[in-house]
Amino acid sequence: MNSLFDPRYLTRNILIGMALGATIGTALNMAGATPEAPGFIAGELFQLLGDVFVRSLQVLVVPLVLLSLIVGTASLDDVRKLGRIGVKTLVFYIGTTAAAITIAMLLAVVFRAGSGFELNLESSFSAKESPGLRSVLTNIFPKNPFAAMAEGNMLQVIVFAILIGISMCLAGAPGQRVLAIAKDLNEVVMKLVVVLMLAAPFGVFALVGKTFAIQGFGTIAALGQYFGLVLGALLLHAFITYGIILKVFSGLSPVRFFKQMRRVQLFAFSTASSNATLPLNLENAEHNLGVKRSIGSFTIPLGATINMDGTAIMQGVATVFISTALGVELGVQGYLMVILTATLASVGTAGVPGVGLVMLAMVFNQVGLPLEAIGVILGVDRLLDMVRTAVNVTGDAVVSTIVAKSEGEFSQAIFDAEEPQWEERT
Ligand code: ASP
Repeated sequence: MNSLFDPRYLTRNILIGMALGATIGTALNMAGATPEAPGFIAGELFQLLGDVFVRSLQVLVVPLVLLSLIVGTASLDDVRKLGRIGVKTLVFYIGTTAAAITIAMLLAVVFRAGSGFELNLESSFSAKESPGLRSVLTNIFPKNPFAAMAEGNMLQVIVFAILIGISMCLAGAPGQRVLAIAKDLNEVVMKLVVVLMLAAPFGVFALVGKTFAIQGFGTIAALGQYFGLVLGALLLHAFITYGIILKVFSGLSPVRFFKQMRRVQLFAFSTASSNATLPLNLENAEHNLGVKRSIGSFTIPLGATINMDGTAIMQGVATVFISTALGVELGVQGYLMVILTATLASVGTAGVPGVGLVMLAMVFNQVGLPLEAIGVILGVDRLLDMVRTAVNVTGDAVVSTIVAKSEGEFSQAIFDAEEPQWEERT
């Protein structure tokens, strides 16, 4: 019983919660639970438990990003370093996303995704208006910091925190006094993440239970090829691409890295939300991967917002699949356009469940595919969303680790330790 709340058994307990949730959820599904009539257990009980858990983490996102980024920026010994870290991080984020979508499209083309698939465009999917490029760019800059925080607009919060951090650096003694307070506050919020994680096995149990109960995986068979290709590309990217770039650019062991990432991945999988996973990813980077706060506080929140390799992979496969099924030739130029827009779309995708599909509309618009076709893949999207979110957060952690290592802001001892080093100050 004690081991239920013992942090040393957390990963194991999350796995047990997940397996139990999947089993009970599947049983409920077989007993007739559907999205329209989920029944008391899935619709009320699991929903309640899951919502409370996700909300408890979401409530920490804004304070955590704000504080850790202010502390991270203000603690830099040299503000110019920020520019270098920023450029490196962006290059890796954009590079890995472009690689992800290229792999996805290559796989889709080689395996002739969508050929022979009967496309029924009578679906009820109505795409929301996707934002244009200009408004995506303008929206990075905050007009009102409180509005940005209240709306949970992470990019704006990030920009605001960096500016305040820089000015604290430049302000001398007053800056140092504010920094001391921000550091203490950050410690307190971070502690809350660690405490909340002890409830993760239960939260994960409820979230997975609900999804499996109402999802019904009958649609997977009909869309088996699409599902298999997206899944294959996601796994390939997660283990091979990330493994290789981690080894090449940091010399660290990918096996060790994936071991240290397990909790975060399981969590992202269960919540299908990079945003809800952000507090844990931040905490894990610092106490399990050995990424120092000055780097992690910048790279992880930024990644949760703009780096979505898993989402880009789904968009790449989906575009090839639908265009082939419709008999539309996109040509090399069309494919390049897809790579460009899907990379941008993944930047504009918020880290919450299902948004990747909404942003797919932007890609379809660009290459002239009918938006109703998105409805065809809706049925299998939730499960893929879970996997791609795990890939999204792994990408953020890989890049953070590489940047931290290259800047000498990395602790090998923490990376090598079997247990999270919660007491370690980085
Ligand atoms: N659920 C994804 C995330 O939060 C976004 C998406 O692809 O829908 O990372």
